[in-house]
Amino acid sequence: QDSGTHPACAFYDADFTKQLQTEQELNDLFEHSLKNHDFKVYLQPKVRLLDGGIAGAEALVRWIHPQKGIIFPSDFIPIFEHNGKICHLDLYMFEEVCRLLEQWNQKGQPWIPISVNLSRQHFKNPEFLKAFSEIAERYHIPPNTIEFELTESILFDPQQIEVVKISIQKMHALGFLCSLDDFGSGFSSLGLLKEFDVDTIKLDRQFFLDISKEKSRDVIACLIELAKKLNVRTVAEGIEEQEQLDYLREIGCDLVQGYIFSKPLPPKEFEAFCAR
Ligand code: C2E
Ligand code: CA
Ligand code: CA
Ligand code: CA
Repeated sequence: QDSGTHPACAFYDADFTKQLQTEQELNDLFEHSLKNHDFKVYLQPKVRLLDGGIAGAEALVRWIHPQKGIIFPSDFIPIFEHNGKICHLDLYMFEEVCRLLEQWNQKGQPWIPISVNLSRQHFKNPEFLKAFSEIAERYHIPPNTIEFELTESILFDPQQIEVVKISIQKMHALGFLCSLDDFGSGFSSLGLLKEFDVDTIKLDRQFFLDISKEKSRDVIACLIELAKKLNVRTVAEGIEEQEQLDYLREIGCDLVQGYIFSKPLPPKEFEAFCAR
């Protein structure tokens, strides 16, 4: 009790040590889990506001560990971003998505567009897209079925800007689509939209949290209008409430992704959701 340290600090230290342990632990589990297929693709539908149809889905990773149970991305993505393992994981997820798409196609189902998340770490290797396009080819996936999501914050890294620009061009040359994720979560400048030729912007859920305020609504309307002028598709993320949905429909947002329609689902449940 009377150790001389501030109680809050002692508490913080214990927490920090625990955190380091967990990091080490998750790192140690990674390779085995990858081989063991413990990382699963979950799919969250994107719904068209115009007619309620399903326009596609985002693939989100879930780590389902036999002993530890389900581990969410926020608990391991930052760790694997830090040590580069995320690149292996993204490629693994991409292959799983392609495998799934091919299976569906073989069952006679129409192609459904899927977006996959790309860590900023990939852009350290200007040739990173080769591996992705080889996988897509191996599974006979029409490239325009795939959209790569890159997070907005990558555009603020002056070291990476050129590679990002060129990579977006390469994606398009290969026939893939590209979307700018978490738009507006950081120090977004609207000017970025004309500099980076993305097909879609995903508006961060922050924008929609106080939708009943007129100022919030004005900001959203303005962004959607700008996107329309630039011929960029808009996805509103994290939509949970009817009021948000009503407003987005009113101003002509293209797609909505959020709990109001569905949480991310295991592929079988996603299929059922599509068939409903
Ligand atoms: P993100 O790419 O912005 O994905 C959207 C996140 O919002 C997902 O969290 C999703 O489950 C959650 N979400 C969707 N609808 C709602 C809603 O209505 N309300 C709320 N509160 N949340 C909603 P998740 O799956 O936990 O993923 C967190 C982040 O982890 C993702 O954010 C993405 O940055 C990263 N991530 C997930 N899977 C991958 C992956 O395979 N590779 C990489 N590099 N990152 C991934
Ligand atoms: Ca995303
Ligand atoms: Ca997002
Ligand atoms: Ca365009």
